[in-house]
Amino acid sequence: MKVLVLNCGSSSIKYKLYDDDQQLADGLLEKIGTAQAQLNHTIAGRKKVVSVHEVLEHQAGIELILRALVDPEKGVLASMEDIQAVGHRVVHGAESFSESTLITPEVLAKIEECIDIAPLHNPPNLAGIYAITNLLPKVPQIAVFDTAFHQTMPDKAFMYAIPYVFYARNHIRKYGFHGTSHCFVAHEAATMLGKPIDELKLITCHLGNGSSIAAVDQGKSVDTSMGFTPLEGLPMGTRCGDIDPAVPLYIMGKEELNLQQINALLNKHSGVLGISGISNDFRTLEEESAKGDRRATLALEVYCYRLKKYIGSYVAAMNGADAIVFTGGIGENSDVVREMVVKDMEFLGIELDIDKNRARKRGEAADISKPSSRVKVLVIPTNEELVIARDTRRIVSET
Ligand code: AMP
Repeated sequence: MKVLVLNCGSSSIKYKLYDDDQQLADGLLEKIGTAQAQLNHTIAGRKKVVSVHEVLEHQAGIELILRALVDPEKGVLASMEDIQAVGHRVVHGAESFSESTLITPEVLAKIEECIDIAPLHNPPNLAGIYAITNLLPKVPQIAVFDTAFHQTMPDKAFMYAIPYVFYARNHIRKYGFHGTSHCFVAHEAATMLGKPIDELKLITCHLGNGSSIAAVDQGKSVDTSMGFTPLEGLPMGTRCGDIDPAVPLYIMGKEELNLQQINALLNKHSGVLGISGISNDFRTLEEESAKGDRRATLALEVYCYRLKKYIGSYVAAMNGADAIVFTGGIGENSDVVREMVVKDMEFLGIELDIDKNRARKRGEAADISKPSSRVKVLVIPTNEELVIARDTRRIVSET
């Protein structure tokens, strides 16, 4: 089955076209809303083609992508009718969705209701769904939610200690994100370990520009670091992560900042960028740290120390762990971060093999722990789009 996977952000659209599990094409359209939108389009096994267009909104962007897919030279489909289903990444499904689902008018209405608690993320996801409804009206569409995997968290893990009325009335609770990735790498880890997932306790670390960690017990998420929004938890590229809630209130008073300004400060100017004052890119931070920049080093230390503490807390929450899994741009590629996080954790049965960690090849899954390590340390490349394509195929075949 040919499935188009769409991940629509506020000014960008990522896409991958699959035939069953085989990737036929992928690409990224950036700077939507301008006359300088850039389309990077790659057919599997061929060179990337880059082109610049005026793309003022998402539907025009998706039309451009569809045209690229059927282009006689740079395309891969004979006709748009070859697309049998479209899978959408939808960031927030709140408590309405604990699994991927066929998009019906009722489902659409519920995704729209979630705009209230995901004002930045759900609107572009919805724009993608509406665009496909207009452009490919007969094609079934499936929503795959970032939050769904974490709906198995018990209430003691998701409840905030604020008056209960805010949960009951305003749905304020921990939701968690990156669920597709945590779910994917947890299952891959079970395969690597040669055990059924329902016999495993796993700690999955999705470390990218946005970072989160999850405790996965018997295949179910029982806790995760992101919260009501993706701002909670680990410090990230530009997001502050866990912080004393009194701090923003104090800064707002001192600096006379309004809500929008403090929101931007915590989401866009904090994290490792805020501490280092240099960059949110871990490659740059590692380079500057190696040259002796103290604040770049401090940013890396804060990030890794917080991650280490989360791992310890999830070992406690699950009464053990069989493996720690690293994924995401940083988790997959930074041996420096992995070493800083898991070294000196022998007390918990975690023994890193430093040589294997450094030698691990890009793009490959690897066990980087010593044979004696009670808790395995794994690096597993994530593939959220493949999960979306598989869920889409399964749901369309069942309906
Ligand atoms: P993601 O959001 O998963 O695409 O990850 C983006 C992050 O991965 C950025 O902060 C990158 O700097 C980081 N990253 C990518 N490659 C490397 C690398 N070789 N070493 C360290 N960080 C990396």
